[in-house]
This record gives sequence, structure tokens and C-alpha cells, in this order.
Amino acid sequence: MNQPLLDVPRVQPAAFPVPTVWSPDCVRHEPLAEIWLGVRTPGTEVPQRAAAIRTSLLSAGARIVEATRHDDTILDLVHGAALLQHLRTVYRDWTAAGFPTAVGADRVVPYLFPTAGLLGTLPLREPAAVHARAGRYCYDTMTLVGPGTWEAARGAVDAALTAVDMVAGHQTRVAYALCRPPGHHAGRESFGGSCYLNNAAVAAQALLSAGYSRVAVIDIDAHHGNGTQSVFYDRGEVFYGSVHVDPGAGWFPHYVGFADERGAGDGSGANLNEPLQPGTGDGHWLRSVERLAGAVAGFAATALVVSLGVDAAADDPESPLQVTADGYHEAGLVLGSLGLPTVAVQEGGYHLGTLGALVVATLSGLCG
Ligand SMILES: [Zn+2]
Repeated sequence: MNQPLLDVPRVQPAAFPVPTVWSPDCVRHEPLAEIWLGVRTPGTEVPQRAAAIRTSLLSAGARIVEATRHDDTILDLVHGAALLQHLRTVYRDWTAAGFPTAVGADRVVPYLFPTAGLLGTLPLREPAAVHARAGRYCYDTMTLVGPGTWEAARGAVDAALTAVDMVAGHQTRVAYALCRPPGHHAGRESFGGSCYLNNAAVAAQALLSAGYSRVAVIDIDAHHGNGTQSVFYDRGEVFYGSVHVDPGAGWFPHYVGFADERGAGDGSGANLNEPLQPGTGDGHWLRSVERLAGAVAGFAATALVVSLGVDAAADDPESPLQVTADGYHEAGLVLGSLGLPTVAVQEGGYHLGTLGALVVATLSGLCG
């Protein structure tokens, strides 16, 4: 039986309480590939990730807020000027040097790294050749730079800063920045792990600058956020805690993310890592999230940044953890129960079919 259209009950999605900040520039970064183990592979940090998350949040009734342009004041407090200049210019210089046409290298990829073993006690000099400079700041071969990389990374920073503005301006207790590319593997003077600028560190620094005296960053991405840890490792006003697959079991970032890394100098005790064995599911993962939340309370944080990676989920191709959507929701509830002004920043999550629902599940927990 045909029913008149007006008689069909219209179920509007309930308004989702966490606003989503987004910059259209975030899809301008198209890495096209990763060079992994010397082989060009398709890569998983693709623009479609952001579109999938955005679609899920819209379906859940989220309000989408376009990021506003911010100057470099906060960014300059997190990253060194030389790294920023490199990211702004390296693709232009690479193209001008002819690598796309001469050797078919359509993206900037390093081949030489100025490691401590290479330099010994000699000073690190700026290399003359752009193909040498490609390895000056990037520490892996997976994190390629193309024509829109800088604009996308800078747009992600604007999204994080706009989310901080909303929380610091008391428009909302919890705001979410749909950042892409992700950021937690980018350090003060380094980048890698598909990250270029550290959005979570920028958010934490912006919260400090807005007057929150003690800020905690909790990182639930499947991989240790070595960049964020390094930015704040010797600073006492920012706590960093992470639950992730154990680098000692053979997982990225391999060299960093161990339980005995507890901070240094003024930051002694303000760093807590919870490395987990491959195959870990909700139970042990959530106990780690609870320990991190307890540490945040003990630190007397006045604001929280959540590095929201959803690649610990069972479906994700990039990690061996086995967390469910219910687990992510529960983690959101645990962190939300701290009751702190909170900025959630998107990190990893690579299974296009489920990552949006995982983000929605976490954020709905965060706002209680
Ligand atoms: Zn990750």
C-alpha cells in the first residue's frame, strides 16, 4: 500500500553533543603510496578516511564546524622553525630539481638519514641537495610529501586550534577535531609515521596558552605517540599517557614507547606508557585506559587532550590489537568521567568500513 509521504514517520537523528571541527584542506594531502621495506605500497592513510569519519558523524547528528585560520603563534611553540620551513618548501624544491620527471619520483621520499652513527661528534650541517634534505627531518620512508601535504597538515592544525577555542570559550566541554593527516608521531624537529605536524601537541600547547595550567594528553591510538611524548618529555605542565601495542613485540615506532619512559627533568613522572601484547582485546586495554585516567586525576590536570586513534580495533589493518566498538565507547566513558574540558584529536584508524562508527562510539562516551 502506498502511503502519502507526509504520513511516514520522520526520525531525525538526535543532535550529537560533540561538535566536529574540520578543514576542507585536510583532504588535499594525497600520499599515493608508502615506501615500506623498500617497496612502493598503496598505503592506508588516504583522504577517504576523513570522508568516512565525517559521514558517520553527520549520520549521528553531529554539527560540523569549519576550522578558522590561525596564525603560527602556537605552532611555533611546538615545532622548530626549520622543520616548518622544510615542510612548506620541500615539495616545491623537489619538483624544481626535476625528480618527478627525471626519475619518476612524484613524491618526496628520503634515501639518506643523518643518524648519530653517521655524524659521530661532528655537527649536523644543512645539506645542499634537496634529496638529502628529504631525510634531514623525516625519519622513515613511509611519510611522503606531495603537492597538498603542507596545506592539509596546516588545515589539521587549524582544526585542532579551533576545537581548543570552542572549549576554552566554554561553548562546549568536549570538542572533536577531525584532523588529517594525523600528528602524534611528529616531534619538535622531526616527522614520520604518516604524521607531519603534531595536532595533539598543538592542542595541548594552546590549552596551556589559554590559561589551563596543567594539561594531560591521553593517546589511545594503537601505536605509541612518540612525537607527542618527545615534545613534552621534560616539561612538568603536560602529562602524556599512552596505551599501545608493545614496541618490544616488534611494532612501530619500535625504538620508543616502553614502560620505563617516565619523563625527564621537570617532566619526571609526567609520562606513562602502557604497552600491550599483540592480540590484546577490550579487557586489558580498558584496564590500561583506566590506569591512564587515574594518572590524569593524580596529575591534577585541568584540561584533557585525547589522541583519538581507532586503529586498535580488531578490523584495523595496521595493528594487532583487538578492541571492539563497545571497548572504544567504554574508553570514552572512562576519560569522559574525568569531567575535564576536553579536545579530542583524530589520529590513526584505517579500516574505512568501521573507523567512522568507532569515532562516534568513542565521542559519545567522552561526552557522557
Ligand atoms: Zn596508529
